[in-house]
Amino acid sequence: MTLGSLTRGRPSGSAILAVVAILGCTTGGVRGRSASEPPRTRPELTDYRETSSYADVRKFLDSLETLSLPLSFGSIGRTTEGREIPYVVASRPAVSTPEAAKRLQRPIVYVQGNIHGGEVEGKDALLALVRDLSLAPRPNVLDSIILIAVPIYNADGNERFASQSRNRTHQNGPELVGVRGNAQSLDLNRDYIKAEAPETRASLAMFNAWDPDVFVDLHATNGSYHGYALTYSPSLTPAAVFGGLYTRDSVLPVLRDRMRVRHAREVFDYGNFLTDERAVPASTAAEGWATYDARPRFGTNYYGLRGRVAILSEAYSHDPLERRITSTYAFVGEILSLVAERSESIRTLSMRASAQPLAWGRSPDSLQVVAVRSELVATPTTLDVIREELENTGDSSITEPGVPRGRRRTGRFSAVRMPVFDRFTSTMDRIPPAAYVIPPSDTAVVTLLRRHGIVVDRSDTTWSARGEAFVVDSIIAAARQFQGHRETRLQGRWERGLQTFPAGSFIVSTAQPLGTLVVYLLEPESEDGLVTWNFFDARLRKGERFAVRKVLDLSRRGRFRLPRSSTTSHQLPSRQE
Ligand SMILES: [Zn+2]
Repeated sequence: MTLGSLTRGRPSGSAILAVVAILGCTTGGVRGRSASEPPRTRPELTDYRETSSYADVRKFLDSLETLSLPLSFGSIGRTTEGREIPYVVASRPAVSTPEAAKRLQRPIVYVQGNIHGGEVEGKDALLALVRDLSLAPRPNVLDSIILIAVPIYNADGNERFASQSRNRTHQNGPELVGVRGNAQSLDLNRDYIKAEAPETRASLAMFNAWDPDVFVDLHATNGSYHGYALTYSPSLTPAAVFGGLYTRDSVLPVLRDRMRVRHAREVFDYGNFLTDERAVPASTAAEGWATYDARPRFGTNYYGLRGRVAILSEAYSHDPLERRITSTYAFVGEILSLVAERSESIRTLSMRASAQPLAWGRSPDSLQVVAVRSELVATPTTLDVIREELENTGDSSITEPGVPRGRRRTGRFSAVRMPVFDRFTSTMDRIPPAAYVIPPSDTAVVTLLRRHGIVVDRSDTTWSARGEAFVVDSIIAAARQFQGHRETRLQGRWERGLQTFPAGSFIVSTAQPLGTLVVYLLEPESEDGLVTWNFFDARLRKGERFAVRKVLDLSRRGRFRLPRSSTTSHQLPSRQE
């Protein structure tokens, strides 16, 4: 008899709680026994009525740690309220450092659960998956890849348990779930550029240290009544030329087939019906299915800018918890399998993405434009999308958690042919300069760039170089606050000429592995760069030049060197170094 089946059929809530308490003690006692039963997740222990608390996750991981499995444990950092954010690295042989991981020459897959605290299935699926993969007696993906699991990323949000009807209005249980934001009420999945939350800073440090080849972010949907167990998205920003297109065209379609054939579950591109959420201008289509947003404030879009594969996973919020967990479990399992099969090509993709910018400024052929603004494509494909009919009940009762009063699901699904808006196209491309130069006073900008893993140098002399300055024509501040900001958008024109920089200026070469990210963050017209998040607001003036300048040819800066700077010019970074 499984522990899960013990709780099944118990008549009253208090009886269930009593059983759960006993079972909880039993699993807690695993530590005291030598070779023991594997731990079970809170949903498994409660017949999927409850999700794991932070303490449950810690206890589960502690139990795994006693079992001599090929796992290593750590913390990516602390939350706002000081909780350690645990991670597990699973691989055979076990590795505990990025250096050891690199020596194995395998793809590294980073899977994160619970970025939105109320979206609980990723956390519980990931715990179960780590347990099952590491306990499996036969060889499996852990012999071919390295899995880094971060099950409870937004630990503070997870702990703000309240009724699902308040914290997750569109979700079918469990009864108690956490909240979307972190303890600062920041949405962590809008924080990847500005990195204000300690959680984001911790995850950026993990990305920089481990340099995962694949990033997977686990969520549950908010909206439409569709017919899919799970919906997914690649990195949508057109600047994600390496990971984005490969994921969209070569990875996700295979996962879709495998989910259908091996798990009998339909999955599809993430989106909402236009009748639920109008993502496209009204003139384009009356009915359709549209994805969300290309900006890298969202984790999977951001990770694509780093030149890697990124996958958003959205379990269907109207499915009951057990099905959401098993769908997520199956989908992540299939991702790991496919990455294991494609080990070589995925690692090659990462290496090419990191190497390509290194030639920027040296070889005209190597230059690749970076898309800094985008829009949803206006010419969608037409596909069948499965829709569920809802009907009115005639009274104001709630038929099921997450379904509006007076409405009920019918279980009647139909495939409707409609335009599908699943991709973005660039509306503004920028050619990478050799470098961006930042004034000495903009240390907050430099701190942020370094958090992203970007290499920033400093000149200790005055110097000049041919370059471009952006003259600001208009400064457009968003009408409403968003995440504590009034987002800023600039328009203007570029002027080419000799630029002179004071001693102490910061130099950000684009010839580094994260060169695309450098361009995206520092271009003044970028739709989600540092201008957007108010890093330059204090000194923006209409008609004046923007603080950050472009240098077109860093290697020839000596030609324009001012006499005073000659003695220390060797300390300036050179593209030949
Ligand atoms: Zn979410």
